[in-house]
Amino acid sequence: MSKTIIVSNRLPVKISKNEDEYTLSPSEGGLATGLGSIYKKGNNLWIGWPGIEITEGEDRDKVINQLSELKLQPVFLSQEEINEYYEGFSNDVLWPVFHYYSSTYAYYKKSNWDCYRAVNNKFKDAILKVAEPGDVIWIHDYQLLLVPGMVRNCMPDVSIGFFQHIPFPSYEMFRLIPWRDELLKGIFGADLIGFHTFDDVKHFLNTAARLLPVTASANVITYDERSVVIESFPMGIDDKKYAALPLKNAVKVQAELIKDNFKDCKLIISIDRLDYSKGILQRLQAFELLLQQYPEYKGKIALYMIVVPSRDSVPQYAHLRDEIDKRVGNINSIYRTIEWNPINYYYRSIPIEILSAMYSVADVCLVTPMRDGMNLVSKEFVASRINDDGVLILSEMAGASKELIDALIVNPNNAEEVCNAIITAVNMPLDEQQVRMRAMRQIVAKFNVSHWVKIFMDKLKEVKQLQRSMQTRHVSGATEQSIINRYHNTNKRIIFLDYDGTLVGFRSNIQQASPDQELYDLLKELTSDPANEVVLISGRKHENLSEWFDDSKLYLIAEHGSWFKQENTTWHKISGLTDNWKHDIYPLLETYVDRTPGSFIEEKSYSLVWHYRNAQKGLGELRANELMNNLKYLASDKGLQLLSGDKVLEIKNVEINKGKAALTLIDKNDYDFIIAFGDDYTDEDLFKALPDGAISVKVGSNFSAAKFYLRNPAEVRKLLTGFTRSQDSRIKNREPLLS
Ligand code: UDP
Repeated sequence: MSKTIIVSNRLPVKISKNEDEYTLSPSEGGLATGLGSIYKKGNNLWIGWPGIEITEGEDRDKVINQLSELKLQPVFLSQEEINEYYEGFSNDVLWPVFHYYSSTYAYYKKSNWDCYRAVNNKFKDAILKVAEPGDVIWIHDYQLLLVPGMVRNCMPDVSIGFFQHIPFPSYEMFRLIPWRDELLKGIFGADLIGFHTFDDVKHFLNTAARLLPVTASANVITYDERSVVIESFPMGIDDKKYAALPLKNAVKVQAELIKDNFKDCKLIISIDRLDYSKGILQRLQAFELLLQQYPEYKGKIALYMIVVPSRDSVPQYAHLRDEIDKRVGNINSIYRTIEWNPINYYYRSIPIEILSAMYSVADVCLVTPMRDGMNLVSKEFVASRINDDGVLILSEMAGASKELIDALIVNPNNAEEVCNAIITAVNMPLDEQQVRMRAMRQIVAKFNVSHWVKIFMDKLKEVKQLQRSMQTRHVSGATEQSIINRYHNTNKRIIFLDYDGTLVGFRSNIQQASPDQELYDLLKELTSDPANEVVLISGRKHENLSEWFDDSKLYLIAEHGSWFKQENTTWHKISGLTDNWKHDIYPLLETYVDRTPGSFIEEKSYSLVWHYRNAQKGLGELRANELMNNLKYLASDKGLQLLSGDKVLEIKNVEINKGKAALTLIDKNDYDFIIAFGDDYTDEDLFKALPDGAISVKVGSNFSAAKFYLRNPAEVRKLLTGFTRSQDSRIKNREPLLS
């Protein structure tokens, strides 16, 4: 039976050592709860670092046994590995860069990168020890970016999901990392790549398009001949747990204590791990601004601030902690009175009962990170508000702000805005609080952590099916053989061949893509069979095709069908076409050439083409879209069609299309074998026009109306050679029979 393997840096367990005994307590974090529904079932398991260094073989065996009862499998790491892979690379390169703090905090050290790679390899080995074909592997977070690729190299067909729990930054940030390509390729080992928000997805897609040779169709990227889906899956929490906690006695007792303490004050809570991304100092600045500018709130509001210790042995974090200490001390010393303390600050971890009590009695929850992948505190606060009251102030830089749109959304850098939001919050009428809180509670309940797990796993299954169906459409193996057999068993064939991108690859200079000798030989062989009508159907100018193929036996169709020429005849053009429209369109295209270095106009008899292959990446596409919008109405008024191809935008008479051109030939004869090859938008007209029994083959991508696909011109040539080869072998095979 196939199984699911969860992989993350840390196992969901706390291990402590007492004398020679290890005590294990399962962790209660949200991720562990959500994934519990998976790894605890059947023969599934979770692989990760147990959280402490264990060096002795005997101790390791003990821990392995204890963990295996919880369905956990350890990857043991030495202190040095933790220092370099975890602290040095994950936390000192990936964390700051992905949170937009590269200039202040990122530290690129080659030996840390080497260790990151080595530890990722260790995780891969641990996976390979247990993984079997048919299994599903779900890898988590930024510490393991290379693992999907490493596993893929060893198990090409296994199902791999990857989810990143922190933001994915803009290309401008990601490109700073010296080892960016390798990291990106590592992630691409997955079949499904998940992020918390659509912004992360957009950044990832853009980064992939800029750094790797990928082809993209919306959020499906083809890399290394595999289709990978990139999607947002905002992670939720165990909402029911947080809604049930305030009803517990232990929580009620704590809640009463807090209420007594802050009797006449509006209570504002703030809870974060110690981290520069959390915006703690900026929050204090906003709070101080409020006390300065609105003295009437003195004694009426209090900030109850928990900072959970984290990495404070690292100098930058120790510095941040000292700064917070100073700031809090400073504000309190200026504004406190005998009865009132503006800020109640705790630098410690707190038990869940106190956390829940704080969530349930606070008037306002202030969550203002500078950057946060999701932020679970905001969701936990909402889930805890079983009376539907209370106000959430939420930074627009937190992933959660995309879902919790009924919060007061603020820019955490804008102290004045945060200060005003606090004032709005403490004065918000109860009915407005309830309207907002109910809406947010519905979201938190629906998109909870089990929902997150389910939709991710469902999507991963769907992606695998999509890949398999694409696989069957790829012309290879049995499919290839059956097409070749069909070719043999027929004797009146028509073969439509597009030129650029189908028979030859794209070049930056359109004149450079001239046919090579191998192609001439291949076409000669194909046309020499009297059973074949071989049609070259191109968007190129007829003069251009003449130059290359005048001496061949090909039937030539140029400019998508405006010109045609049979062997040994001259060119003809289809009647009734006008090119008067060019006077209006040409000057407009020129303005785009003037504004887009590297682009140019190609003029054909009945079309104009704006080429942008050599324009700056991204700029060409942007201008092409702009041009499309600009021409939309003008084009339909003038009976023109806009075709967006591979780095080109073509404007042509609507009457001309490859489909129509092909049909006039097909209708003339009773062909028993019809096949068409093409790579771009204009070839879709051809595929759609072909009769039912015809074979259509898209080249270069698998998103098409075509029945089959091939990856590149080399594969097209191979199939065509297959046609001619089998002719030879048939003849050879027959010879003894005939003689
Ligand atoms: N939390 C905790 N100990 C505490 C206070 C809070 O473990 O003393 C939890 C809190 O309930 C939340 C998590 O820490 O689930 C913080 O998650 P969040 O996404 O807000 O921030 P992260 O620390 O993951 O960046």
